[in-house]
Amino acid sequence: MIPAQFDYVAPTTLDEALGLLAEHTDDAKILAGGHSLIPAMKLRLAQPALLIDIGRVRGLSYIREEGGRILVGAMTTHYQLESNARLRDICPLLPECASSIGDVQVRNKGTIGGSLAHADPAADWPAAAVSLRAELVAASARGERVIAADDFFVDMLTTALRPDEVLREIRINAPPARTGQSYMKVHHPASGFAVVGVAVTLTLDGDGKCSSVGVGVTGVATRVYRAAQVENALSGSTPDEQTIADAASHAADGVDANGDIYASADYRRHLAQVYTRRAVAAAVANVR
Ligand SMILES: Cc1cc2nc3c(=O)[nH]c(=O)nc-3n(C[C@H](O)[C@H](O)[C@H](O)COP(=O)(O)OP(=O)(O)OC[C@H]3O[C@@H](n4cnc5c(N)ncnc54)[C@H](O)[C@@H]3O)c2cc1C
Repeated sequence: MIPAQFDYVAPTTLDEALGLLAEHTDDAKILAGGHSLIPAMKLRLAQPALLIDIGRVRGLSYIREEGGRILVGAMTTHYQLESNARLRDICPLLPECASSIGDVQVRNKGTIGGSLAHADPAADWPAAAVSLRAELVAASARGERVIAADDFFVDMLTTALRPDEVLREIRINAPPARTGQSYMKVHHPASGFAVVGVAVTLTLDGDGKCSSVGVGVTGVATRVYRAAQVENALSGSTPDEQTIADAASHAADGVDANGDIYASADYRRHLAQVYTRRAVAAAVANVR
């Protein structure tokens, strides 16, 4: 399949990119790794008149620590997150989630910012972002604003980003001591996307009780969601096998689940419960 005709620009600074986006808000699209946008263009599901390639913009690809937070540039690739040794120590959910995405080619080219901005209902990063209560920094020619992950994912392929905004940075509070994390996913056998994916970040206090927990679920509904009832059931509890099983049984409560030829809505709800139980148990086992 061949995309519709389009123009292409490759700015080298963010200001330049934002200026172009402000000028062409109605018919331009940002190009990051291209691993979601280009297939959509080939299928003519997207027909932008102008592609603004931010692959050459300096200063959008980094992983650094600052003031107790982990800062990740939007153009950081899945592979860079997967292979970062420091992240394996301080926030292993990020490399674990990255390593579950697609294949080597996809991970080498695809970016965390592109994945979050695309908001595919079966994408992996949104689950991690919700679990970690990440903050997403949106930049435009008008300035910057910070959007909580809970407010960022609006619907299928729809985020809170405005048409003239670029996702610039992802901010995550560095998990405290006695935190365990896990990402558990049922891979779709054809695409590798999540039929269901559950990201858990859980902290225990000195008595072994759960002092904070974040559970993000992807693949089940039209957008990622926070499994708030699971979190409520775990908060303040000692997460033993029975407590985790009881809590995980609420993983799809009130959720309007997607069904398709591969997995019915009921099956997805069932998987959400099973994989939430497994991911929470793994996070508890990973506490250090
Ligand atoms: C074969 C294959 C298998 C895959 N498997 C998986 C998988 O298992 N799990 C998974 O989660 N994903 C999977 N993906 C998707 C992959 O992770 C993509 O890389 C990702 O979804 C999009 O990132 P990108 O950098 O390629 O963005 P692009 O394709 O360049 O852009 C995607 C969309 O986001 C917008 N955008 C990009 N960057 C920004 C930004 N910084 N600010 C604002 N808007 C922006 C673009 O305009 C476009 O609308 C797969 C893709 C392929 C082709």
